[in-house]
Amino acid sequence: MRKLIGLTAIVVICFFLGNCVQRFVAASQMVPQLAFPLSAAAHEFAAMLQPRFPQVPIRAQPPVFNGTDINIDLINQWLGDSSPEVFLTFDDGPSAEATVQILDVLQRHDIKATFFVLGSNVSRLPDVVQRIVAEGHELALHSHTHPNFLTLTREQKEAEIAQSLSLLHWYFPEVRIRWFRPPYGKYDQEVVDIAHDYGMCIAMFNEISTDNNSSAGEIARVVLNSRGKIMVFHDGQWPPLGRLSEAEAQLVAGLNRSVGIAKGRGAKFMTLSDYFGGFCP
Ligand SMILES: [Zn+2]
Repeated sequence: MRKLIGLTAIVVICFFLGNCVQRFVAASQMVPQLAFPLSAAAHEFAAMLQPRFPQVPIRAQPPVFNGTDINIDLINQWLGDSSPEVFLTFDDGPSAEATVQILDVLQRHDIKATFFVLGSNVSRLPDVVQRIVAEGHELALHSHTHPNFLTLTREQKEAEIAQSLSLLHWYFPEVRIRWFRPPYGKYDQEVVDIAHDYGMCIAMFNEISTDNNSSAGEIARVVLNSRGKIMVFHDGQWPPLGRLSEAEAQLVAGLNRSVGIAKGRGAKFMTLSDYFGGFCP
C-alpha cells in the first residue's frame, strides 16, 4: 500500500513538473517538442488524461471533385487593382500572444480573415483556435510541422496533411477546412491530389511584400494598397510567453493603424471562402 502511495505521489509530481517544464520550454522556444527524460513518464500520464487523437487519420470531409485551386492564374483572373475585396491571411499560428492581439484588432473593426494554422500549434492552443472559429474567421490548414513538401515522400506528404486535418476535426468537427496552403508556397501535383482527396483545395496569395523586418508603417502602407490582394502575414513566432516578437509587434501595430482606414475607404475584407468558396465545393 505504501509503495502504491509512493508511486502515485511520484507520478503526480512528475506530471506537474513535466507540465511546468513543458510550458516553459514551449514558451521560450528552446525546442519545439519536449524531449526530456524526466517528463517522459509525465507525458505518458498526461496523454492518458487528454482526448485521444485518432492514430489512423479520420476523413471528416469528403474528397473534392473538380475543385479549382486558388493559384496565381485564378487570382489574376478574378482579382485586380480595382477589386474592392481584400483578404488578410495569417500563416504559422496560432501563437499565444500575436494571434490573440490580431483577433482583437479584427474584432474592433469587424473584419474577417483566414488563419492557416499548423497542427503542432493547434494542439498547444486549442482555445485560441476556438476563438478564431467563434468570431467568424476562416480556419484553414498549413500542415502539421511546416516542412518543405517538395522534400517529402508521398506517404510523408499525406501524413502531414491527414494528421493535422484530423486534429482540427477532432477539436472542431463541424468546421469545413476548405483550404490548404503548403509551407513556403512549395507543392507539386501529389500535394494537390492529396489535398483534394481530403476535401481541400490549394490556396496561394498575390501579396507577400512584408516580412519579418517590415515596420508598422510599411505594413500599414501595404494594407492601404491591398485591393484585390490575398495578403500573407505570420503569427506563429512563439516568443517568450506574454510577449510579442518585434516582427509581431510591428504587424499588430501596422494592422491597427490601417485596417479601419482601409475599410472606411471601401475595402471589403473577406475570408477566402466568402469569395472563392464556390471554386472548392
Ligand atoms: Zn508558413
